[in-house]
Amino acid sequence: MMLQGRNAIVTGSTSGIGLGIAEALAKQGANILINGFGDAAQIEATRAKLAADHGVKVIYSGADMSKPDQIVGMVEQATKELGSVDILVNNAGIQHVSPIEEFPVEKWDAIIAINLSASFHAIRAVVPQMKARKSGRIINLASAHALVASPFKSAYVAAKHGVAGLTKTVALELAEFGITVNAICPGYVLTPLVEKQIPDTMKARNMTHDQVVRDVLLHAQPTKRFVTVEEIGALAVFMASEGGASMTGAIVPMDGGWVAQ
Ligand code: NAD
Repeated sequence: MMLQGRNAIVTGSTSGIGLGIAEALAKQGANILINGFGDAAQIEATRAKLAADHGVKVIYSGADMSKPDQIVGMVEQATKELGSVDILVNNAGIQHVSPIEEFPVEKWDAIIAINLSASFHAIRAVVPQMKARKSGRIINLASAHALVASPFKSAYVAAKHGVAGLTKTVALELAEFGITVNAICPGYVLTPLVEKQIPDTMKARNMTHDQVVRDVLLHAQPTKRFVTVEEIGALAVFMASEGGASMTGAIVPMDGGWVAQ
C-alpha cells in the first residue's frame, strides 16, 4: 500500500470524482477527511463504509467551500483528528451553463468562490505544516476547461484556468520544500455535475438529451466514452505517491484525447 498512514483531505467527496479519489487513496492505506453536502445519513453511511472497506480512519467535515473560515476550520479538524494533513485534494466544484449576458451574477460569484478561491484558502491553511515537515502533496481538480473553452461556461472556464495558474505558482513556491502541486484535468466524467448540466445545455443549444451527450459532451472526446472516477483516482494516487516526487506544477489532462485536438 503506497500511502499507508498518510492523512488526506478530499474536498467535495460525498459524490462523483471526489468520492472516487477518496476511495482510491483509502485503498492505498490513507486516512481521509471527506467533505461535501448531502443527506446526513447517506454521508455517514459513505464514511463508515470507506473506513470499514479499507481499514483506515475516515472523518467528515461539512465545511462550505464558499466560506474561507470554514475551510480553515476543516484543515484544523483534519490536523487535530487525523494528526496531520499530508495530502490535500481540492476537488469541490459546481457548474452553471448560461449565455454570458444572462449569466446570473450570484452563480458567477459562487463558481469563482468554490471552484477557485476555495483551493487558495485550503492551500494557504495546509502549507505551514507541510513546509515544517518538508513534505506534502497538493492535487487540484481542474478540467480540460483549464486548457480550452466551451461556450456558455464563462465562470467555470475562468475558474479552471485560474486553478491552473494557482497550481503552477504554488508549485514554484514550494518546490524546495518537498511539496508537489499538480492539477488533474479530466474530460467528461458522468457524475451528478455533468448529468445536471444536460437539461440547461439542451435549452441553450436547442438539442435533445441524446444530441447533447453525443454532439456536445462526447463530441470533444476522441475515445467516445466518459472518463471514469477510477481512472482519475489512479492518477491522484500516483501524484500522492513517492513516484510523483519530481512531478510538480504539472497540468495533466485525462480527457480521452480532447485537448490533443
Ligand atoms: P459532483 O457534483 O458529483 O460532486 C461535487 C462535490 O462537491 C459534491 O460532494 C458536493 O457536495 C461538493 N460541493 C459542492 N459545493 C460545495 C461547497 N460549497 N462546499 C463543499 N462541498 C461542495 O461533481 P464532480 O463531477 O465529481 O466534480 C468534482 C470536480 O471535478 C469539480 O471540481 C469539477 O469541476 C471537476 N471536473 C468534473 C468533470 C466531470 O466531467 N464530471 C470534468 C472536469 C472536471
